[in-house]
Amino acid sequence: AAPVLTVDGPGGAGKGTISRLVAERLGWHLLDSGALYRLVALAAAWHNIKLDNEDALEPLAANLDVVFVPGDEEARVYLDDEDVSAIIRTEQAGDRASVVAALPRVRTALLRRQRDFQKPPGLVADGRDMGTVVFPDAELKIFLTASAEERAKRRYLQLIEAGEDASLSSLLKEIQARDARDMQRSVAPLEPASDAIELDTTQLTIPEVVDRLMELLVQ
Ligand code: C5P
Repeated sequence: AAPVLTVDGPGGAGKGTISRLVAERLGWHLLDSGALYRLVALAAAWHNIKLDNEDALEPLAANLDVVFVPGDEEARVYLDDEDVSAIIRTEQAGDRASVVAALPRVRTALLRRQRDFQKPPGLVADGRDMGTVVFPDAELKIFLTASAEERAKRRYLQLIEAGEDASLSSLLKEIQARDARDMQRSVAPLEPASDAIELDTTQLTIPEVVDRLMELLVQ
C-alpha cells in the first residue's frame, strides 16, 4: 500500500498549512478530513436536517457528492457542483462540524471515503483521528499542538488578513470549546496515537515545522 503520513492535532495548530506544504514537497495526495465533517454539516443545513439527527446524517455523509480540486492555495471544494470553499472555512462551519463529528455512525460513514485517498505515491492525511482510527498503520504519525492562546492568535491574524471581523478573546473561547468537544466525545476522541511523535509548534515557524517533518520522514 502507498505510504501515509498522518498529521493530527487540535484546531489551529497549523495542520492544514503544514500538511499541504509537505504533500506539495513530496508530490503526495492530501486528505483534509476536517473538510468532510464541515461538508456534512453544510449538507445538513441545505437539507434542513438537525445536527443531532444521526439517522438522517449517516446516509447524507455516506453519499456526499464532493470534489476536491488541489491548487497552490487551499484546495477548492465543491458540494453538489457548488463551490463551497469559503463557506466551509468559517468558524461557525468548524463548530457545526465538531457537532456532527461526535456521531459514531457519521464517522463510520466517512471511513471508506477517507481511505480511498491512500494512493501512490503516498498520502498526507490531516485530521484528528488519522493515526488512531483511519490509518493505524501509517508510516509516520505526527501530533501537532500549540497553546490555545497561540492558536487563537494565528486564527485571528488569518481572519484579519482575509478582511474579516475577528475578536481575539471570542476566538480563544471558541477554540477552547471546540477542543473540549473534540477531546470529550465518546468516539475517536482527540488524542495522540500511542506511536505518534508530538510536536509543539507554539514557538516554531511554518517552514521550521515543514523541515522537521521532512527530516522525520527520511529517518
Ligand atoms: O480540522 P477542521 O477544523 O477542519 O475540523 C473541523 C471539525 O471536524 C473538528 O473540530 C472535529 O470535530 C472534526 N474532525 C474530526 N475528525 C477529523 C477531522 C475533523 O472529528 N479527522
